[in-house]
Amino acid sequence: MKILLVNPGLNPKRLGSYWRFTTAVPPTGLTYLGAVLLRDGFNVRIYDQHAVHEDNEALMAIIREYQPDVVGFSCLTFVMETVEEASRLIRSYDSKIKILAGNIHATYFPKEMIEQEIADYVIREEGEEAILAICRGLRDGKHPDEVPGTTTHSEGKVKHNSTPALIDLESLPYPAWNLLDGYAYDPDPLRIAPLRSKAQPLAIQGSRGCPFACTFCSQDTMYKRVRVRSPESVCNELEYVHHTYGTTVFGFIDAIFPLSPKQGHAFADEMIRRGLHKKVVWFTETRVDLVNYELLKHLKAAGLKFIQYGIESGDDMVLQRLMRKKTGVNQARLALKWTRDLDILSFGLFVVGMPGESREQILKTIQFAKELDPDIAKFNVAIPFPGSELWERFKHRVQGQPYWKYSGWYNANINDSDNILAGDALPTKELMYLQRRAMFEFYTQPHVMRRYFIEGMVPLDVLAEGFYVMISELARSVFPYARTQISRMAA
Ligand code: SF4
Repeated sequence: MKILLVNPGLNPKRLGSYWRFTTAVPPTGLTYLGAVLLRDGFNVRIYDQHAVHEDNEALMAIIREYQPDVVGFSCLTFVMETVEEASRLIRSYDSKIKILAGNIHATYFPKEMIEQEIADYVIREEGEEAILAICRGLRDGKHPDEVPGTTTHSEGKVKHNSTPALIDLESLPYPAWNLLDGYAYDPDPLRIAPLRSKAQPLAIQGSRGCPFACTFCSQDTMYKRVRVRSPESVCNELEYVHHTYGTTVFGFIDAIFPLSPKQGHAFADEMIRRGLHKKVVWFTETRVDLVNYELLKHLKAAGLKFIQYGIESGDDMVLQRLMRKKTGVNQARLALKWTRDLDILSFGLFVVGMPGESREQILKTIQFAKELDPDIAKFNVAIPFPGSELWERFKHRVQGQPYWKYSGWYNANINDSDNILAGDALPTKELMYLQRRAMFEFYTQPHVMRRYFIEGMVPLDVLAEGFYVMISELARSVFPYARTQISRMAA
């Protein structure tokens, strides 16, 4: 039986000039699913539509050539336009092909996806065991309508099966990276010269889930409870992938790694004991309250090169009350100082535009980012993604509307009517301007320009493209914002 797993592409029209700056990284989730299916004897292919920037005509050409029995889509909210269209095309080509949908959007909207006939089976939460059970059932000629953790149709009704048991991470096979042979991924997904390598950087997963509950995050939609792999298990996989594919750069895809100093020290000990710290380097994301100087020093000795921190805001009230982040600005100051003192590259992630956040608080965040001085900074606009607490508060405003409205900020030409938070956060045009201004203010500081242009931290081609996007986006946002300010003054 043949199974085609699809990583759907974004709609370039909505992204404007940001489209040029999207990067494609190997879709780890699909390689886990592929590995589980291959182990059971299925014939599997992955089509990474996002990586090749192709449309659904190209997908249909692959389907006509491969003749799959099952097509499975990884469904995030902002690719749902692509998935809906692909599903219609597949059904009109061959109604016998079964369509599966998984990932966060499908987990959150299983009933709608079955009712609208976008999918025959929706896999909620983690997919490895459910996809295997569905495909085994189909291979046996049945309609597997009782698989835990799935939603399907039965006797003309939507059937919502029980919640799946949590997956034991150590029972999973390693991701089947060979299913991605032939794809030329970005060798530098983080755009940082020191992390460039000859072999493709690959992902590693040390845990699933996050014990925190920030209001803008939908992490717990997929992973209901935290599970952690042992350091031995993670290092076994690193060794295997290094020897098999020649990989020398790894990125942890955990929500947070390490989740505690204890886990971090144990992992670092194992890396050093095996000598892996001399063969590979790695990067990760964590929280500013989960590191200390000794831990960072140990992790650096074990190969840590680059660390991303979810700093989010420069205002404690925003952090505590609006985001429920449970970190403080002083913890961020310390974490960034230790990171810099140890010569580890840092990436500060910030969020602006929370409901209730003022202009002054956003300006404070911009100043704070400049004060902390991470090597790279990114300012995201708060989006109430399905599954997040923000979504629960505001979902009534967009339900029943086209999927892309759920994440209006992926539309580069967004205005108030497409912004689910309009009226509760700053006006859309002002927010758009402030986000662009944050990027501009941060990256045009003389010492940051020197770091990039003279010290060569980012390759020149990437730099040129980044500056082009930043300046054109700022210019594009200034005039609509100025117009709204003038009309406000005139009123
Ligand atoms: S933002 Fe980070 S710390 Fe907060 S819930 Fe999401 S993954 Fe966890």
